[in-house]
Amino acid sequence: MVYISDKIKSSDTSISYVPTPLDLPISSTNTTSENQSNIINNQEEDEEENFIKNNYIARTLLNEPELPPITWLNWYKEVNWPQATLLCLEPLVALYGLFTTSFMWQTIIFTIIWYFLTGFGITAGYHRLFSHRSYEAKLPLRYFLLILGAGSVQGSAQWWSRGHRAHHRYTDTDLDPYSAHKGIFYSHIGWLLFKPRRKPGLVDISDLTNDKCIQWQHRNYISLAFFMAFVFPTLVCGLGWNDYRGGYFFAGVLRLVFVHHSTFCVNSLAHYLGDAPYDDRRTPRDHFFTALVTLGEGYHNFHHEFPSDYRNALKWFQYDPTKYLIEFFKLIKLANNLKEFPKNEIRKGRYTMAHKELNRFGQTIIWPKDNLNLPIITFEEYQELTKKNDNRLLILIAGFIHDVSHFIDSHPGGRTIIKSYIGKDATVAFYGGIHDHNTAAHNILAMMRVAICKYGGEVEYIKKRLGHIQTPTPIFA
Ligand SMILES: [Zn+2]
Ligand SMILES: [Zn+2]
Repeated sequence: MVYISDKIKSSDTSISYVPTPLDLPISSTNTTSENQSNIINNQEEDEEENFIKNNYIARTLLNEPELPPITWLNWYKEVNWPQATLLCLEPLVALYGLFTTSFMWQTIIFTIIWYFLTGFGITAGYHRLFSHRSYEAKLPLRYFLLILGAGSVQGSAQWWSRGHRAHHRYTDTDLDPYSAHKGIFYSHIGWLLFKPRRKPGLVDISDLTNDKCIQWQHRNYISLAFFMAFVFPTLVCGLGWNDYRGGYFFAGVLRLVFVHHSTFCVNSLAHYLGDAPYDDRRTPRDHFFTALVTLGEGYHNFHHEFPSDYRNALKWFQYDPTKYLIEFFKLIKLANNLKEFPKNEIRKGRYTMAHKELNRFGQTIIWPKDNLNLPIITFEEYQELTKKNDNRLLILIAGFIHDVSHFIDSHPGGRTIIKSYIGKDATVAFYGGIHDHNTAAHNILAMMRVAICKYGGEVEYIKKRLGHIQTPTPIFA
């Protein structure tokens, strides 16, 4: 359909075939009085007050001001020295080891295995089992995951899960201990280097404080962590193939650097990189790269939407080894009750986002004028106008009067046919009497609306005038 002529193309506006409405009074009910706006303002003030009163986050942020900001003058007092020393020293020690220790293939393989095992202690243990209870695990598995998790030196499962539950409940607010809104550095490692500016938001951890395994790990965390992070890998490599040094530097320290930053990426990268297929109101995002460096925790948008689901990735091609490990635990009868969010609810998330995207696309399109912005004229007035004004070629189709002056020469069916219907009701002809027009024709026609014909069309108008159509008597007169 060639309807943009060279003449139209060269004009200022890209839709110059759209005519201006007829210069007639418009009936509109779209008015807002001063009283109405005052009422709205008062309502807004009340709503804000009620919101603070009834909203835990707003109330807490207002009533519990945070500690003074960290500056160049006070930073050394605000550093969390034990954590900062560990996190800053470990990459240096690992680098020293890399340049001064010879590689043994057995140590390299064990380092990779130990990286995955201690990493799984966090992803399958601390995260999906203890923080989110996304499956149930038998006692031996619980201890196994707690011991491995300690080897990744990220605090006890109770401490970790307490912070993580706050992260989910207060995502992107100041009650989220590693809020992505405070910047990628802060959410990655900054929150660990400095003392927190305020307590994380309230969460329920009664299940953790009543859990014997968790409490055992919590009490013995320091010795467990030290043993599993450094002593155990050193002993395995030393007693196994006489590589104590490699065991310590590679499977111990270097592996720890990778495990740390892998987990940290879930808090930083997974809140910045990728897309939001389930909900975009908050920062969590899905991305393959993040999944790759976090043992499958990178489908974080899905995870934040459906946190009790044992899976982070749904599709077969998405990388989520933690999910497969949990399925393996189920296979060997160490895990059961693997929770899955209902498919229908997951689809709703996808649908909402697709709908939002479509709406955004729709906003880039110029739609026909609202009916309220068009004057209403009778069929006779329409005929009069066509006779009076030769410059405006008006045509009535489906109750709307259209100005086709700029379009007539581009009409694929030719100029003559349109011309013959000027000043007449062309509804039947347009809807199949002569040609059953396609959707694009309907769309472009709607853009040329300049007025509404009273009672819809010629026949309806004549019937009404002759008294053939009775206005129905209202039930409540
Ligand atoms: Zn998150
Ligand atoms: Zn989580």
